[in-house]
Amino acid sequence: FPAQADVLIIGAGAAGLMCAAVAGKRGRSVLVLDHANKVGKKILMSGGGRCNFTNLYTAPDNFYSENPHFCKSALARYTQWDFIALVEKHGIPYHEKTLGQLFCDNKSRDIVDLLLAECREAKVQIRTRCEIQRIEPIAGEGKKGFEVHTALGRVVCESLVIATGGLSIPTMGATGFGYEVARQFGHNIIPTRAALVPFTLNKRALARQQELPGTSLAVNASCDQGHFHEQMLFTHKGLSGPAVLQISSYWREGKPVEFDLAPGVDLPEWLSEQRGKKPESFLHTVLAEIWSKKLVQFFLQRNGLESKPLKQYSDNALQDVGAKLQTWTLVPEGTEGYRTAEVTLGGVDTNEVSSRSMESQKQSGLYFIGEVLDVTGWLGGFNFQWAWASAHAAGGEA
Ligand code: FAD
Repeated sequence: FPAQADVLIIGAGAAGLMCAAVAGKRGRSVLVLDHANKVGKKILMSGGGRCNFTNLYTAPDNFYSENPHFCKSALARYTQWDFIALVEKHGIPYHEKTLGQLFCDNKSRDIVDLLLAECREAKVQIRTRCEIQRIEPIAGEGKKGFEVHTALGRVVCESLVIATGGLSIPTMGATGFGYEVARQFGHNIIPTRAALVPFTLNKRALARQQELPGTSLAVNASCDQGHFHEQMLFTHKGLSGPAVLQISSYWREGKPVEFDLAPGVDLPEWLSEQRGKKPESFLHTVLAEIWSKKLVQFFLQRNGLESKPLKQYSDNALQDVGAKLQTWTLVPEGTEGYRTAEVTLGGVDTNEVSSRSMESQKQSGLYFIGEVLDVTGWLGGFNFQWAWASAHAAGGEA
């Protein structure tokens, strides 16, 4: 077990491995430690097994943070195009799925192998199954660095990089370790919460939608400043799908979420057009042109509406029916929490970290990268792009 390293990185995930390769290629001796039994577990499970490794349209607006300017520098200096070039250098086949989201054609394993090959080239040493016990800064005149005590032995390092990620999916090895280290060195933590996570609904609401799990439809989801036009999926616990995961990052307990259930269609207007064309048709028959039969039944019942031939509705009545059916406003009971969340909102306060190098402004030689920082991306490859970019920034300095 190496007793000394120029750079010690804790966390062999997306950010940790990327940072290791970059620092190693500068000639730094690099050791990466992880408590899990293997590296890059979240990469392996990401993107449904195909890793959505970046997004063609990555821009600072795709990230939430208390300090929205912080991510700009690193994202500009290591862009999606840089990571795509790396993927191409390794001959990894990929494709754009939708909305600029790039996925591996084969398996997420390709991305882990890419990172491990880069680390090998940079002579990085990696140890898994290594519990970190405590970190002590080395004090004294002319001295700098850290002494890190682990279950495998003691390591002395000049630079210490914390790349332990967020709290989502504890069964995959997620811990609050990074936040504890940050607190140890006097950092503020922006309160954390599960994000990119399905909503749960109360029993009554679930009973109403018991025929629907597995059904999806395109919606416009809105909450606070967030607006997303994507698919929504009914589940046994509530609602999921990309539109719901995205809007969950804007939601807070007790707040309503609004779904436009027929985006791009003015439903009151459309219904009166239909009445002109086929006055004898029943409301539910006409609506089945927009939604599946199951959904039509659900939306009618939810609004306490009966289905009559269109000619029996007055102008006002049809306006009212259309408006009710178009918009669904609901207050989710909660979310599925860290158990299924893709990411963690909040984290190490970026006001106390250099946006150029990711170095702590409280402790020289200490760096924070990836999801442990208060920078959280939308769904769609943005979280990995932040891991690559922040890791690259720190790897160039640590
Ligand atoms: P991680 O990749 O989580 O790495 C942290 C590492 O630190 C882990 O290896 C962990 O074992 C280790 N660690 C934690 N605590 C300790 C400790 N106490 N001691 C030692 N080691 C420790 N993002 C996308 O951009 N695209 C996707 O397709 C995508 N899909 C996802 C699917 C799922 C199911 C999940 C959960 C997340 C997904 N994400 C996706 C988000 C993305 O995986 C993370 O944002 C990204 O992995 C963060 O990188 P990181 O290096 O900061 O943390």
